[in-house]
Amino acid sequence: METYANALLYAIPFFTGLVLVEVLYGALVKNQKHNVMDTVSSLSSGLTNIIKDSLGLVLVLVSYPFLAENLALFDIKTTWLVWLIAFIAIDFAGYWNHRLSHHINIFWNQHVIHHSSEEFNLACALRQSISNLIGYFALLLIPAAILGVPNEVIAILAPIHLFAQFWYHTQHIGKMGWLEYVIVTPSQHRVHHAINPEYIDKNLGQILCVWDRLFGTFQEELENVPPQYGVLKPAATWNPILINFQHFWRLAKDAWRTRSIWDKVRIWFMPTGWRPTDVSEKYPVSIIEDVYNFKRYKPKSSNLLKGYAIFQLLANTFLLLFMLYNYAEIDFRELLLFSAFVFIGIFAYTSLMDRKAYAFWVELLRGLSGFAVLFRNGDWFGLNSFVSFGSNFMMVYFILSIGCSFYFLLLKKKRPNKP
Ligand SMILES: [Zn+2]
Ligand SMILES: [Zn+2]
Repeated sequence: METYANALLYAIPFFTGLVLVEVLYGALVKNQKHNVMDTVSSLSSGLTNIIKDSLGLVLVLVSYPFLAENLALFDIKTTWLVWLIAFIAIDFAGYWNHRLSHHINIFWNQHVIHHSSEEFNLACALRQSISNLIGYFALLLIPAAILGVPNEVIAILAPIHLFAQFWYHTQHIGKMGWLEYVIVTPSQHRVHHAINPEYIDKNLGQILCVWDRLFGTFQEELENVPPQYGVLKPAATWNPILINFQHFWRLAKDAWRTRSIWDKVRIWFMPTGWRPTDVSEKYPVSIIEDVYNFKRYKPKSSNLLKGYAIFQLLANTFLLLFMLYNYAEIDFRELLLFSAFVFIGIFAYTSLMDRKAYAFWVELLRGLSGFAVLFRNGDWFGLNSFVSFGSNFMMVYFILSIGCSFYFLLLKKKRPNKP
């Protein structure tokens, strides 16, 4: 976990930097593909995923080392060949895992966050799940285990394989010639994120597109069918934590409400979107029918509120970076407490972006708990040894957060017409 925390110290500024480059490029060529609130929401989603992963909050059903130890029939040495085999095995497993995520109700819940943006840009790549709480991916790597691919090779390749899926989330790169036949390109992945009937659930490959071509899920981006991004049941919130459990919540309500015991059980494993007949008649859920004319989520927000959202994103990113930097120094219980502050912080400011009144109460609760930690320890998890005014700084930050939420939600409500 420590190595992972260290790697993130570089990965976070690197990916955020590239998002910024795309924003600047968009401004330069006057073809901006970002909007402030959506991008803040995407980057915040990335932070929640990092918190979850760096704390190792997952119940691993089967681990790869276990499989490699028990299933290996061959003993291949660590030559270039083993790297190639491992890469193909990971990519093949990734394709089927992705296909499963799109087609089965319960698995869709943990993937929907990635598709929830109605924009398509580099930031949207960082919308990663926190609801993937059960680790079963190793099962899909059984072929690699049988071939004797050592765990070390998988451990090094898996994050590289994940990071390599970042670059193709862009609208600024067109078709790429012969590469379109080998790897997943921006054009192919635009199709994947689109809800047009021609495109939905297509191009499930992660690095190689050969699997899609082989298993019949390939779809080229068509000139006369411009991709429309999002999900058929729009998330309608900037809060990434809520998006992670929206589909689960709908399934749980349906399972509770239906009269059929069999439906209560099978709804979780039925194709994505399947609902028991009795509840779907009684409680209809609307889905987008005309993909070219649907109302995208864009609640009114002043420039001040946008500025505040960026400020909170930066503040929480720095808090998280500080936590990762000190990962080895802070004991696990304190790490949980620290990450709770960031996590709840993200919940609060993204709810504020949604203009939800409870955002103020969440921020107040976080601020008061923050004061309690500061008074108890006289420090903020060792911040004082980095900057002498560390705890004062945190005090001001909490006061500012409470004050601003109060201003945006309660004062603004009385004067809705003022900018
Ligand atoms: Zn997908
Ligand atoms: Zn994607």
